[in-house]
Amino acid sequence: MFQFIYGPPGSGKTTIGKKLAESLELPFSDLDEVIEKQAGMAIPEIFLQEGEAGFRKRERAALSEVLTHGYGVVALGGGALLNAENRSLVEKNGKVVCLRASFETLLFRLQAAQTIRPLLAGQRSTPGSENHDGLYNRLQGLMEAREAHYDSFSLQLDTADISPDLIVVAAQRLFGAFRISGMGPSYDVRVISNGLKLLGGLLKERDLGGPVALVSDENVGSFYIQQVQQVLEMAGYGVKTIIIPAGEAFKTIETVKDLWSEFLGRGIERGSTVVALGGGVVSDLVGFAAATYLRGVPWVVVPTSLLGMVDASLGGKTGADLPQGKNLVGAFYPPKLVLADSTTLKTLPDDELRSGMAEVVKAGIIGDGTLYAICKSGWETIDANWEEVIRSAMAVKIEVIQDDPFEQGRRAALNLGHTIGHAVEKVSAYRIRHGEAVAIGMVAEARLGEAVGVTEAGFADEIASVLQNLNLPTKLPDYLDRQNLLDVMRVDKKKSAGQVRFALPVRIEEVRIGVSIPNIDTIFLQL
Ligand code: NAD
Repeated sequence: MFQFIYGPPGSGKTTIGKKLAESLELPFSDLDEVIEKQAGMAIPEIFLQEGEAGFRKRERAALSEVLTHGYGVVALGGGALLNAENRSLVEKNGKVVCLRASFETLLFRLQAAQTIRPLLAGQRSTPGSENHDGLYNRLQGLMEAREAHYDSFSLQLDTADISPDLIVVAAQRLFGAFRISGMGPSYDVRVISNGLKLLGGLLKERDLGGPVALVSDENVGSFYIQQVQQVLEMAGYGVKTIIIPAGEAFKTIETVKDLWSEFLGRGIERGSTVVALGGGVVSDLVGFAAATYLRGVPWVVVPTSLLGMVDASLGGKTGADLPQGKNLVGAFYPPKLVLADSTTLKTLPDDELRSGMAEVVKAGIIGDGTLYAICKSGWETIDANWEEVIRSAMAVKIEVIQDDPFEQGRRAALNLGHTIGHAVEKVSAYRIRHGEAVAIGMVAEARLGEAVGVTEAGFADEIASVLQNLNLPTKLPDYLDRQNLLDVMRVDKKKSAGQVRFALPVRIEEVRIGVSIPNIDTIFLQL
């Protein structure tokens, strides 16, 4: 799987491609450099001797060679995909992000550049000079001829007035390719529609060993385990499939014990790989079993629920529940790879999908106004854009956990809606789903925020209307005793120094963390 960087001359393909490859710890190829190496001469010379047709032929050969590497970031030449065959080859082997900038920015960058670009002859010069006008006219001609071509790529990235580092962050989001560091060895996250069929290759790329223990629950397993088993076997892995019962009721140490015994009985060793295929219950349990079996074996998570994709699979938290409470046993144990395949959501029950959307809206509020706008547009837009929704929501969580891997500061922003939400779940004896409780929690916390002047006036109603539109509840049900909810919040593990601390929304893309509210009883009882 490749990440191809494309765009007009001057859009920054090589600079951004190199930086992106560095950030993802992937090999980098610059197609023009490969062409020059293969030809043993510089590109202007190729144009001189062989004309554009000769150059394009060499470009095709260079592309074929780069594709034999199997994966990596590739900066393509500015006209490399005008050829339909090249384009289909590239699109078959990865995703293309097209870098863009205004005509003036491209011109400015080309004037400053040292490289000679044959199709834009008449290079570095001062405005008004013959050379300058030559470059201006040629770039104008080239852009007029190619504008529609560049527009035809679905992943577009405007690079004007943004630092290269931020362009790289935006490119990672568009590619759905991230590398998380800060908590032990770094690891990859990939969002790929129909990505299940690439799992074997992705394991191989990371030198992960076999046999593979492929663990799923009975629901997810019935849809996908055979397919994933086949894909892994085709990549040469021996596969031991293990099915556990579905649901939070089985997120117990007993299930973890069963997993340990299965691993032992099925010959899973230190060099083997454990794959968790399922929702958050499966990934929490399997990650914890992998963390503790033989003092830690490598594991990979393939989240199949929306909540699993945008939340549970990210951040390295693994664990199980105890009869006394949820997630009371666990370990920080990051996987080697997270692979989210948006097409698996097709079989996710509607209630689970709706519930997962609460975490997506939360991600939009914390850090992505565009994602929030998609949520606001409603189900039709969301359904048409699942891959974007997932990679954008994941990007928000990844950005926060990268900054604060062990929850010492900023990661608390992810608790938005959860301080009240957890209490709602608990007091309702878990009859209210996690996502529904978070939806209620976000609105209630925004109302608290408005009452103490942290949240912009009207924002609580705004969030409520977005959530209602997604069929999520937004009001604290009358049958939940307010005092009870407050008591639960006080014993919640996130309390510090006897005070309940909230992560409160200020406005879109701004959350204030660690807020304690002195007269919380009075305000909360009036909500
Ligand atoms: P879940 O794993 O129970 O999945 C919900 C239901 O959907 C299950 O019945 C499951 O079998 C089914 N399912 C999942 N994917 C499916 C698919 N593609 N097709 C058909 N059915 C499918 O629950 P969840 O909501 O995914 O996750 C909740 C769990 O995640 C909780 O235990 C929670 O504590 C945990 N969690 C962990 C973290 C973390 O950081 N580790 C963060 C948030 C939540």
